[in-house]
Amino acid sequence: MRFGYHVKLAGSPVSAIKGGEEAGCDTIQMFPGSPRQWGTPKASDEDARAFREAKAEAGIDPVIIHSIYLVNIASPSDQVFGRSVSSLVSALGKADKLGANAVVTHIGNHKGEGERSGLERIAAAVNSCLERSPGESMLLLETTAGAGTSIGGRFEQFGEVFDISGAPDRLGICLDTCHVYAAGYDISTPGGVDAALEELDKFIGLDRIKLLHLNDSKAECGSHTDRHEHIGQGMIGMEAFRYIVNHEALVELPAIIELAHGGSNPDDIGLLRSLVDG
Ligand SMILES: [Zn+2]
Ligand SMILES: [Zn+2]
Repeated sequence: MRFGYHVKLAGSPVSAIKGGEEAGCDTIQMFPGSPRQWGTPKASDEDARAFREAKAEAGIDPVIIHSIYLVNIASPSDQVFGRSVSSLVSALGKADKLGANAVVTHIGNHKGEGERSGLERIAAAVNSCLERSPGESMLLLETTAGAGTSIGGRFEQFGEVFDISGAPDRLGICLDTCHVYAAGYDISTPGGVDAALEELDKFIGLDRIKLLHLNDSKAECGSHTDRHEHIGQGMIGMEAFRYIVNHEALVELPAIIELAHGGSNPDDIGLLRSLVDG
C-alpha cells in the first residue's frame, strides 16, 4: 500500500510535490486551487513540466486531486449543478495536464428533493464530466458519513449511480474509513471490515475502489458525524487499521491520510507503514 497526505498548495502546483516529499509521502492528494472558490486556476505548460519532473524525481505516484468543497452534483439547483460539473471538468483537465491520476469528489446532497432525484443528478453529472473530459484521469466518488440529505452513506446508493450512469470505465470510488464508520458500517474489527467489503462488492464491485482515505473517527459508528482522528486514536482503532493495510483486496491501493501532519502531530504514515506485514 502506498501512503500519503493531503498536502497544501503554496502557489504553483509543484509546491504540492515538494510538500509531499518533505512529509515522506509515496502518493499525495491536493486541491486544484482554492477549495472555497469556484474556478480552477489553469496550469501553464511550464507548471505542468515542473510538476511532472518533480513528481518523477520524488517517486510520488499516484497524484490525486480532491474537488473543491462547493461541489454538489446532487443539487436540485441547476446553477449549483452546472457549476459543480464545470468545476469537476476543469479539475479533470488539470489532472490530465499535470499527470495526476484521478479527481475525487464528495457527492453532495439532494436538499430535500429526495434520494432518487439526487442519484439521477449524480449519474448525469458523472456522464457529463467524463464526456467533457477526453483525457485519462478517473472520477472517484467518495463515501460519506451520510449526514442529513447527503448522499453516499450507503453502498447501495453508489450501486444505483453505477447502474443509472452505465458504469463508465473511468468511474471509481474512494473509500474513506472515517466516513464509512460514521455512516454505520462497523469496521472496528476484522469481521466488520470483511462484512463492509462484502456489502460493497455486492453493490459496486471491489475492483471499483481506486483510493482509500485512511482516517480514524472521533465520532461513534452510525453517528453520521464526520470527525477525523489520528490513526489508532479514534473509535476504529489500531487493530482494524492493521487489518485494512494488509487486506488482500486493498493492499494495492493508494491511501491518503487527511489529517494534520508535521510539527507536533503524530506520524500517521510511519505508524501505518509499521502495521504492514513483512
Ligand atoms: Zn475523505
Ligand atoms: Zn471527512
